[in-house]
Amino acid sequence: MGLTKHYDAVIIGGGIGGLMCAYRLSEKKPDMKILILERGKDLENRKCPILTGKVTKCIKCKTCAIMEGMAGAGAFSDGKYNITTEYGGWLPRVMDEKKVMDYILQADSILVQHGAQKEVYEPDNELKTLCLQHDLHMQQARVKHLGTDANYGTMLNLINTLKERIEIETEAVVNDVDKEKLEVLYTKNGENLTVSGDKIIFAVGRIGNRMFESWCDRNGIKRFNNQVDIGVRVELPYEVWKHFSSRIYEPKIINRSSHYGDRTRMFCFNERGHVVTENSDGVLTVNGHSYKEEERKSKNSNFALLCSTNFTEPFNEPVEYARDIAALANKISGGYVLVQRLGDLMDGKRTTEHRLLAGTVKPTLKAVPGDLSLCMPKRQLDNIIETLQRLDTVAPGTANYDTLLYGVECKYYSARPDVENFELKGAKNVYALGDGAGFTRSLSQAAANGLIVADILLGENN
Ligand SMILES: Cc1cc2nc3c(=O)[nH]c(=O)nc-3n(C[C@H](O)[C@H](O)[C@H](O)COP(=O)(O)OP(=O)(O)OC[C@H]3O[C@@H](n4cnc5c(N)ncnc54)[C@H](O)[C@@H]3O)c2cc1C
Repeated sequence: MGLTKHYDAVIIGGGIGGLMCAYRLSEKKPDMKILILERGKDLENRKCPILTGKVTKCIKCKTCAIMEGMAGAGAFSDGKYNITTEYGGWLPRVMDEKKVMDYILQADSILVQHGAQKEVYEPDNELKTLCLQHDLHMQQARVKHLGTDANYGTMLNLINTLKERIEIETEAVVNDVDKEKLEVLYTKNGENLTVSGDKIIFAVGRIGNRMFESWCDRNGIKRFNNQVDIGVRVELPYEVWKHFSSRIYEPKIINRSSHYGDRTRMFCFNERGHVVTENSDGVLTVNGHSYKEEERKSKNSNFALLCSTNFTEPFNEPVEYARDIAALANKISGGYVLVQRLGDLMDGKRTTEHRLLAGTVKPTLKAVPGDLSLCMPKRQLDNIIETLQRLDTVAPGTANYDTLLYGVECKYYSARPDVENFELKGAKNVYALGDGAGFTRSLSQAAANGLIVADILLGENN
């Protein structure tokens, strides 16, 4: 065991939530001793071998460069910053909505100080009306699109500012927190180390949610289940959604399915982007990216189409449910992710290499052609097909035969712990924030949550 160093605050996780928390604390109280422990690498050393062209398929690295490391899961995202409380998390359920919006704007101005753009896409009521005429419900927001590369630069600047103010340890995997002694136990370079803090903040993101949930269970902290979203990543020629994306940047549209009454959401739209894989704690799922630079753009756009499920008693493992479905897709694709043409799916046929090559949409991810109906439950699949057909009424071409569906994409949200002002009930001076604690699911709300917790620690937000 190494020596126990003491800090005023120990933050577990160097994603946007943890970074904003550290930023606010160090800005308002420069003499405060703050440590961030991050299990992944420093931002400059986060190199996904697929993105660097070393391999074509995910090789399941020990730490996933996409999900883990300084700047967190958002580091290589295309940086859509949603200035809204309508979606992106559940903070408005635990505190006043206007306050949440105020914090989102405060976080935005910190990002602007570190290089983020000022231009914002405004909502468009004409498109909203068009959707309503087809029983589709478009969520409205002011959105900033930084682009993957500009987002990276902004986060790098923010981290560099913090490096002058606080201590950051990367490749430091936190295994446990002793809530009585307020000690954080972690491993670095094979060595077991301990630090202590007056305040300990879990900001572990989705990747750390299993560790956090099991810690809560071991320590008697009550948790409340969140919804789980399961579906596919849709890829099609960018022209199909251009009339939306040129006006609002990112269409976010909900369909309430006619048969089941479920909500299926179109979101995470990437114009002229790329479909990518994501290693979610050992299971491969899909996601999307887009770059601002012209030479890095593709001819396709992609978006997530996910169906939300809220489980009721006695089932209380929604995350495991989603992981099992994604794991099944991995299994039948020989350890990877699947791609299928919509037409093949509707005809009850597997997409083969030959059929994929014959298609008019060229995939941006080299996935394994297969059959999604072998791993996706009927309910979710029905909802996805119905939603694609309905979306086709406002953006004709969406339900074309060659539209590509990659699976499985899932977003699972951590169960929310029982808290009072983000302090865990049953663990005094231990706080939780961001995606890992099920309060948020976006850059803007996770960033806001970091600032909110910092202000609570500073006694400025009660
Ligand atoms: C590919 C992709 C694209 C996205 N695009 C967008 C977008 O455009 N707009 C948007 O609003 N949102 C987007 N998101 C979601 C957004 O990135 C998250 O909502 C946001 O990053 C959550 O912030 P966080 O700080 O709560 O968690 P994270 O950013 O996940 O950070 C948590 C950090 O904690 C670390 N950690 C976990 N466990 C431990 C441990 N035991 N010890 C030490 N460290 C640990 C992790 O390595 C990670 O770096 C995207 C996500 C992904 C994966």
